[in-house]
Amino acid sequence: METADVRQDIPLLEDLIYLDAASTTPTPIPVVEAMCDYFYKYNANTGRGAYSMAVKATQKMAESRGKVAGFINALPEEVVFTKNTTEAINIVAQGLSFKKGDSLVVPNIEHHSNFLPWLNLKKKGVDVRVVKADADGILDPSKIEDAVDHTTRLITLTHVSNALGSRQDVEEIGKIAEEKGSLYMVDAAQSVGHIKIDVKKMKADFVAFPGHKGTLGPVGTGFLYCNPEEALNLESTILGGGTVSDVSESGYVLEEFPARFEAGTPNIAGFIGLGASIDYIKKIGLEKIEKHSKSSTRLLYDSLVELKNVTCYGDPQNIYGIVSFNINNMNPHDVAKILDEVKGICVRSGYHCAIPAIKHVGAYEKGGTVRASLHYYNTLEEIQVLADTVEEIAKTFG
Ligand code: PLP
Repeated sequence: METADVRQDIPLLEDLIYLDAASTTPTPIPVVEAMCDYFYKYNANTGRGAYSMAVKATQKMAESRGKVAGFINALPEEVVFTKNTTEAINIVAQGLSFKKGDSLVVPNIEHHSNFLPWLNLKKKGVDVRVVKADADGILDPSKIEDAVDHTTRLITLTHVSNALGSRQDVEEIGKIAEEKGSLYMVDAAQSVGHIKIDVKKMKADFVAFPGHKGTLGPVGTGFLYCNPEEALNLESTILGGGTVSDVSESGYVLEEFPARFEAGTPNIAGFIGLGASIDYIKKIGLEKIEKHSKSSTRLLYDSLVELKNVTCYGDPQNIYGIVSFNINNMNPHDVAKILDEVKGICVRSGYHCAIPAIKHVGAYEKGGTVRASLHYYNTLEEIQVLADTVEEIAKTFG
């Protein structure tokens, strides 16, 4: 499938220039249709009923789990469905039963969703070791290694920074975690659906994913990969229907993984849509998506960085799908508002839920950055329109 074909499947792209894939992506028609099919034809709860419509809904969700698992080189029983990336990270942060005296290692440029759940563990006496990235937002694996000692239970980091676009060498850091004997978690919120993910190659114990970003699935979906050896050591913190195999007045027996982490009625339509979105991404081809993303990110960066009064963040060799920038003397929200008003360009502005990362690049007092983020549906012409409009704004107000 070419970019033009994908655009046919996303009608809202006719009327605007959508450059906010890092927040969420628009949903293609075949994904919406898969969800409609559920609502129209077999809208039953899963894992509960014996009647045929309920069995069909259960089977369809199981099929989706298989598709999602295959996409990241995992088995279906290693994947928990969640409502978003944040929930997936919190399942691990709360489930690992950290104790006073344990330590963990986390970079200083994380999205709040991969920072606050760890920072919160300070309340339990956990030593949260924050490792600084370089000026472009790249982590030196040796700095991570230096922060690890015998008390370190976990290293966690984000594959691609949502605020700066910087891409980390997750495989190299996975090797360090393995050598040091610590657990390893990756936040793949900005890489899944953009870059081929192989959880085994990463040597990760836990990987958190959104369904609603790079994979073009619906909002309200995410998933967690969990290494089966570690899965049963995770404590389930939300219990209820679907999580137990037996209950008496004095106690209960938990279901196997992943059911013990999926309490209550799931977002069935959403997960069926997620399965359809994986089919859709495979139809386009991840290699094609990666190639498109690499060349368009570079074009986006190069066309902005050469403009007068414009500052771009990050190293163009190491950013992926995301370009953060500012117009000197302008608040990023004002820039974003003008881009929307004059050309219907949708970009995010502000701190991007990553205040430490924004402070790291010195953009906090300015109110953050403007962030343009891409996917396969974006054309080179759209990037040119953005660059031309930024140039005009910078000339007029910068
Ligand atoms: N981690 C990163 C790197 C992100 O970019 C985001 C969202 O933008 C999240 C975590 C949180 O994702 P979600 O909104 O799916 O919980």
